[in-house]
Amino acid sequence: MFDTAIAGSLPKPGWLAETGKLWPKWQAEGDALAQAKLDATLLWIKTQEDAGVDVIGDGEMSRQHFVHGFLEQVAGIDFEHKVEMGIRNDRYKAMVPQVVAPLRLNGRVHATEARFLRAHTARRVKFTLPGPMTIVDTVADRYFGDRVALAMAFADLLNQEARALQADGVDVIQFDEPAFNVYMADAVAWGVAALERAARGLTCTTAVHICYGYGIQANLDWKRSLGEEWRQYEQIFPALAASAINQVSLECIHSHVPPELMALLAGKDVMVGVIDVASDAVETPEEIADTIGRALQFVARERLLPCTNCGLAPMKREVAEAKLRALAQGAALARARYGAAP
Ligand code: ZN
Repeated sequence: MFDTAIAGSLPKPGWLAETGKLWPKWQAEGDALAQAKLDATLLWIKTQEDAGVDVIGDGEMSRQHFVHGFLEQVAGIDFEHKVEMGIRNDRYKAMVPQVVAPLRLNGRVHATEARFLRAHTARRVKFTLPGPMTIVDTVADRYFGDRVALAMAFADLLNQEARALQADGVDVIQFDEPAFNVYMADAVAWGVAALERAARGLTCTTAVHICYGYGIQANLDWKRSLGEEWRQYEQIFPALAASAINQVSLECIHSHVPPELMALLAGKDVMVGVIDVASDAVETPEEIADTIGRALQFVARERLLPCTNCGLAPMKREVAEAKLRALAQGAALARARYGAAP
């Protein structure tokens, strides 16, 4: 009960990449970079295990960014001529590659780090991929001219890689769809269908992560504009509850999401965010157990999985380590508090 996991990303050590950035520059290249990525992955596997986290991730050490890491292996995308584009409904500007031709994978995307992860822990492992709608919102399209067709094309590529990750021994495949919280009507109209297409045929556990973003300034400003109650989930959860996806990862602690919206996910496992990624203040186990207790009003005990609100990538490494320990300690306290049958 209350098995813990991280949403996905963790801070890259300073010897691997620039710290504190969402699109950090690598500190090495060629074989040295490949080795450094795996060294950092091993470091975080061990750190998660020592902290007591139950489902282990690779911390996304091998990708520069959670979307572009996938796109780098896709033929039909021009990375040489990036263009500036407003993303997430113009919340912030990013330099993005361009779709210029039909899309196909150049081969495996994440085989090396997924197999490395599987080989170095006996615990269950989770691997993250960007969701099709979020990819569409993070590239410039110069070829398809149709967001839905582009999303479905990416869904097919994601499905190809996801099936291979399952064969590598990955237990949970999670698609990250922060764009669902920005384009709610589109998410219901075609985003969930694209997500299901990316996950079709998988027999491992499938998950989707929907958040209000990393703790960067543009996101903090956006959150301040959303008012007292954040009801975005209310529009998309019914479609997700009716979908084939097994788990939904959402923000909870320190967010303005009304907790009763979690009840819209009946029948799904709910990864409840109990760690704030927008603050360096480390949660206490009591605070985390309290958050779990509030969520238990709306989520069945056997379906509640404590998690982080979002990735920890831009944080300081020592803060992220402390938050991992707090996550596991808070879940343990919650098991003691709420574990006995009523
Ligand atoms: Zn997130």
